[in-house]
Amino acid sequence: MKILVVNCGSSSLKYQLIDMDTQDVLASGLAERIGMTGIGQLTHKPTGKEKVYSEQPFPDHQVAIELVLKRLVDPVCGVITSMEEIDAVGHRVLHGGMKCTESAIINDYVLAAIEECVPLGPLHNPANLIGIRACEAILPGVPQVAVFDTAFHQTMPDYAYLYPIPYEYFEKHQLRKYGFHGTSHRYVTMRAQEMLGTDKFKLVTCHLGNGASCAAVLDGKVMDTSMGLTPLDGLCMGTRSGTVDPAVVKFLCDKEGYTVDEVDTILNKKSGILGVSGVSNDFRDVEKAMNEGNDRARLALDIFYYRVRMTIGQYAAALGGLDAILFTAGVGENSAYARTRILEGLEFLGIEIDETENAKRGEELFINTPDSKVKVMVVPTNEELMIALDTKELVEKL
Ligand code: AMP
Repeated sequence: MKILVVNCGSSSLKYQLIDMDTQDVLASGLAERIGMTGIGQLTHKPTGKEKVYSEQPFPDHQVAIELVLKRLVDPVCGVITSMEEIDAVGHRVLHGGMKCTESAIINDYVLAAIEECVPLGPLHNPANLIGIRACEAILPGVPQVAVFDTAFHQTMPDYAYLYPIPYEYFEKHQLRKYGFHGTSHRYVTMRAQEMLGTDKFKLVTCHLGNGASCAAVLDGKVMDTSMGLTPLDGLCMGTRSGTVDPAVVKFLCDKEGYTVDEVDTILNKKSGILGVSGVSNDFRDVEKAMNEGNDRARLALDIFYYRVRMTIGQYAAALGGLDAILFTAGVGENSAYARTRILEGLEFLGIEIDETENAKRGEELFINTPDSKVKVMVVPTNEELMIALDTKELVEKL
């Protein structure tokens, strides 16, 4: 079975074609500048062949998907002989709200639910819908599946997801914590289950990339997570502030004459390690600047490490103990320094790192010492494979 995994952003489209018999990625790529004036770009990477870069205007997602499919069946850079080889399409969908608690075959009910969640995911859900409709138009009759970024967190208890503000806003607008990166947290939890050889564990998963979030996972179910109503909450991130006193918004409006929308942009796009360091939103650049003596780069990273460390402590309390901590995503998978700094001072929780193991990269591994009471794992995330696995499972039941 071959599955096309599609991830539509507001002006971009990422894709992978996966052969589910072997779980091999046959091709992947990225279309950019969709719906924008001027020229769009498509980078198509067929596995084992030269990558192909092309430029053409992409007035909408449908035009971009048409070109992707053309590349996939191309006699030179293609990897399949006809579109009929695509058995199903799996879509990453940002927000499923309270109705979509697991992956689902796309039908009118699911489409309406995604539409209903547009106010909760105003940038992504409309793009996801456009991507789904474009695939329906070009691949009629091919089953499509929605995999929601919020779904894995839907097991949180009410006292964890409800904000202590008047209850009517939850009733009227479903205003509550949802959490994001769910597909990644779920994939690494699945791998942790296999690596630990049990499905009974108290685990904190740390997805640390440009966006960053932690989840407290009990026996495979999320009990709490650090992102909230939107992906702005929780840890300090590349450009996002994470948790700040909500009064910061009014304070900045009063002092700087900003509108609420302007403060929202500052907190989402100009804060985090970029805002504090003034160097970059890229962790590698900020680590480099720190090593060259830039004290604001040092401060930005200290804030980041401190917040992840505190969140691990909070979640140990929420779970009533800790069996394992897992690091994933760009920083979590690749920066031994970040892992060391995050875990420093946590020996009292029974965490001890083996720095030789910690220095290894690019594979699933345990980085704790044999005496450590808590296992510490590094697991490369694979959201596309998780989406494809769900798609396969649902399509096989049709
Ligand atoms: P992601 O959003 O998961 O793609 O992660 C992107 C982030 O990971 C960027 O800020 C990168 O700088 C960071 N990253 C990737 N490799 C490393 C590394 N070796 N050390 C520190 N940060 C890294």
